[in-house]
This record gives sequence, structure tokens and C-alpha cells, in this order.
Amino acid sequence: MPTLLLIHTGGTLMMRGGDPTPLAPDVYTQDLLTELPVLRKIADIETRILCNLDSADMQPHHWVSLGAMVHEALPRYDGVVVVHGTDSMAYTASALAFLLRGIDRPVVFTGAQKPLRDVRTDARSNLVDACHLATMNIAEVGIVFDSKLLRGCRATKLDAWGMSAFGSPACAPLAELGLGVNLGKHLLEKREREVFDGRIEPKVMSVRTFPGLDPKLLHGALEAGVRGMVIEGYGAGNIPHLENSLVPVIERARSLDVPVVIVSQCPRGSVDLGRYQGGARAAAAGAISAQDMTTEAALTKLMIALGRVSEHAGRVLVAREAFATSWAGEMS
Ligand code: ASP
Repeated sequence: MPTLLLIHTGGTLMMRGGDPTPLAPDVYTQDLLTELPVLRKIADIETRILCNLDSADMQPHHWVSLGAMVHEALPRYDGVVVVHGTDSMAYTASALAFLLRGIDRPVVFTGAQKPLRDVRTDARSNLVDACHLATMNIAEVGIVFDSKLLRGCRATKLDAWGMSAFGSPACAPLAELGLGVNLGKHLLEKREREVFDGRIEPKVMSVRTFPGLDPKLLHGALEAGVRGMVIEGYGAGNIPHLENSLVPVIERARSLDVPVVIVSQCPRGSVDLGRYQGGARAAAAGAISAQDMTTEAALTKLMIALGRVSEHAGRVLVAREAFATSWAGEMS
């Protein structure tokens, strides 16, 4: 019988009323197995409770605690399942993919749009699928929802109502569950275990470019001490360079050793800073392309990269190096 560790962090899946209620691990395990006894047929499951939060209240220090817990436990289980609210799941899954680059088995996030106790719920199928996939030969951090396993660092929440809450528009699912399980050919190879390094710099921000965005607001953020910025540009990463030009913001950021990373507002296609004048001026001013990464992945990667700044390698340099390579399949 495979062994799994199920770590609870909160979210709708185990909610009784509108809010997460305090949980004790033994009661939790009982509740889970009473509601869903079929889980016993999949694996021997142990549970741990990291926290019990609506995921809107997850913070970067929770990612680090979760990453450390998973890293410590992973050698002793066939896989790990993380129960998490959907709202910020893509951020946590991205952060874990980057914090746990050296893994050789699955770490599967799941949650639900409706609580497990509801008659009409997606919690049962999501949990069963997550536990099943967590026993398989998969060396990735993924999100299971609606019969699909998505790469965690490419996923984004797309639906606040329907049961298919997540998509990864720029990356095919890692696995699809129908009568059987179809595994994608792009699954990452097993990687060698690394020492856990939980350093992280949370003082970063993202901003979506829109007509009328006043660059003074971004200058204000630089003055307030932001350490890294993700700008969601239009299309291929284009930004305004005439009226309300963002180019001086990028120049000022560079002079303060604050990296500016550009992602696209489009869920598909990639940043190509050379394609239009605005993008080209951004690149000349020092902006870094995040290619086809999601905002969630770009922000978390930037935080983790900036955690590794040293006297030999400043912020722009570590960010440039980080975004030049794929750490966990986050870009094509
Ligand atoms: N607000 C909830 C959360 O993210 C929604 C969910 O669980 O799906 O924790």
C-alpha cells in the first residue's frame, strides 16, 4: 500500500460554515475518512495541519513553512497532497515548485469550490484524484482540479463559480483523468534532492499596465522601498512609452538595483520585448522578460531569487540570472 502525507492549509474543502474552523489533526483525519472512506483504498494516509486559513490570508512565510514541512517529509512517503483554498493556490504551488526544485515524487495541491460535506461537491473527486496521482511516478508540484493535473507554476485560477477552477493556458495538463490516467510527455524528470533554502524577499509588487496608469504611483513604490517589480504589459510585453511613459520608472528602478520583470496580460503567447517600441524601450532601460510565465510564477520566482541576494550578486543580477533559466518548467 502506498503511503501519503496529506497536509491541510485551509480553504473551502473542509469548511463547515463560511469560515475555516479550528481543526485537530486526529479529528480531521477521522472526518476526512468518514466522508470519503474510499481514500483508504488508495493509500495509507497520514494528515498534518499546517494552518487553517482562507487562502486569501496565506503569506510568503506560510509557503516557506509548508515547503520545509514537505521537504522534510517527502523521503518518507510516496507523495504529498496539500489541501489549500483556491484563491491563492497558484501562488503557493508556484512558490513550492521553486522552493522544492529537487524532487523525485509528487506534491499535489487540491481544494474545492464546495465543501466536502455538501451533497453536490467537487471535493470528493478532487481529493480522490489528488491522492491517486500522488501515488504515481510524477516528480512535479501540481494542482489537481476537475480531472486534470496542472503544473503548479503554470496554473492560474480562471473561474470563481464553475467546478473547473484552474487552467494553465500556456502549458498542457501534466495528466488527464478519464477511464485511465494519461500522463503528459512533458513531465519533468526526477531531480536530485537539494538542501532546503527558505530565503525569500516578500517586498515585491505587481502592477497591470492600463491606459492612464500614472507612473508617479510606481515611482512612489520605488521610494517606499519595493525590492522588485512585475509589470503586466500588454500583449508581447508592450508598455506605454509616450504619454505616461513607464520607461523612466524602469530606469529609476535600475539605478536603485530594483529588478523590473515584464509578463504578458495575455494568458497565451509570450513576452517578446523586441516586437514593439514600448517593449524595446523597456528592455533598453533594463526590464527583464518573463517570457510566457504567469504573474503568480513571476512574482514568487522573483521573491525567491531576491532572497538569494548577496554582497557579490545584487538584486538585478540575481533576478536576471533567475529569469534566464527555467527552474521547474515555468516557462516554455
Ligand atoms: N476563499 C477560499 C480560499 O481560497 C476559496 C476556496 O477555498 O476555494 O480559501
